[in-house]
Amino acid sequence: MTFVARLPLFTRLLRTCGAASIVLGLSLGASACRTSTQASTTPQQPQPYPQQPYGQPYPQQPYGQPQPYPQQPQQPQPQQPQPAAQRPLLPPLIGVAAQQQEVRSILAELINALSQQNQALVRGIPLTFDPTIEVNAFAGCDEQGTPFLAATTGILEAVDAISQTKATDELFGTQTYEAYCNAVLPQLVKSDKARAALPAGIIPANFGPDPRRWSRAREIFSDVIAFTFGHELAHHYLGHTGCAKGQAMGSGPDPARLGRLLSVVPIFNQAGEAASDSAGCINALDAGRARRPQYAWSDTGGVLLLDYFARIERAGGGGGPLSLLNPVQFLRSHPNPLARIPIVQTVAQNWRARNPG
Ligand SMILES: [Zn+2]
Repeated sequence: MTFVARLPLFTRLLRTCGAASIVLGLSLGASACRTSTQASTTPQQPQPYPQQPYGQPYPQQPYGQPQPYPQQPQQPQPQQPQPAAQRPLLPPLIGVAAQQQEVRSILAELINALSQQNQALVRGIPLTFDPTIEVNAFAGCDEQGTPFLAATTGILEAVDAISQTKATDELFGTQTYEAYCNAVLPQLVKSDKARAALPAGIIPANFGPDPRRWSRAREIFSDVIAFTFGHELAHHYLGHTGCAKGQAMGSGPDPARLGRLLSVVPIFNQAGEAASDSAGCINALDAGRARRPQYAWSDTGGVLLLDYFARIERAGGGGGPLSLLNPVQFLRSHPNPLARIPIVQTVAQNWRARNPG
């Protein structure tokens, strides 16, 4: 079996032409370790979005109860003060352009929720969208020492798929997240041509157009993105990248250059990753509280993202205690996503104790 290093939230160090530039990444891809098994590759096609227009009457029935979390059934569910059925329905988040705008909006909310000191360090950092299908988001510095944040098309596709399936499962008691993971992740770890996008047929056709499903999917999408970029922002203001100093910001690197910026020798700083997990989770919780009466972000987003990464690791043969024995260095060297989930949950529990209500 071929092995591809598809990695969660790991750290990469970039040194270009003698000028130190650092990229600290949430990365699922390591091209140096990627091998292709063409025979087993089945490109996934994104599921067509429903044609039914949004705007149906507000539903009277409550959302279904969240599915128990498979890996951590003993963990308490995050609290949402307002029942889902009482929140206003959100318009569907359809298409890459809308998703990118959503990410920009979330990033702005995250920055607004930071301390004045940290805001001064990261305000105006450009967000670049990389059109590659690798599932990846990262904080880094370009050759001029200017900080940036980046997200790939792949991570937007992955978060969209997580959101749509989880929303469907919550509402209808289906197992579409499992079905999606089973269908897509084995391909994702075998081929760099496989996409994380939700394949057609995973969401039952009769549930697809339901506006409650689209609304809940948008909430989940924002929750996962809030943790993702809360984590990446933290790499900047915690000084891990070393280039976010509140200087004047540019427009960010050309997406075409990002691949070169990431052709790097990775370093692994698990303490930094844990610090960014913690700070990013708190940032998402602070920003989420400010969103009320809209859906308030919680640790749900971080837990969902890390579960997804853990499943990718397992699909690649790693994960669990055996990660320590994994022949792929990256999988040995990076924090195990499953080990990070309770950290995020503990941070959230402590935050809720400090911020009751
Ligand atoms: Zn990181």
